[in-house]
Amino acid sequence: MEDNIIERSFTDRPQDEQEALLTYTWCNYCMEVDLGMQNVKEYQSEDRVWLEGDCIKCNNKVITEIDETED
Ligand SMILES: [Zn+2]
Repeated sequence: MEDNIIERSFTDRPQDEQEALLTYTWCNYCMEVDLGMQNVKEYQSEDRVWLEGDCIKCNNKVITEIDETED
């Protein structure tokens, strides 16, 4: 379990970036890409950032890691 997890504001991201992140998903339950997710929340720990949302198709939890190392 990771320490120091904080919730960030996903809606602070640009609109087009939000839409892309909500669209390009991988669902472990459906075993399909790009199903999309809803009710998304963004979290940050010391060394990574990720989104957690509900798969639009099956409603199970979808996690998308965000690579922010390039800025
Ligand atoms: Zn699913």
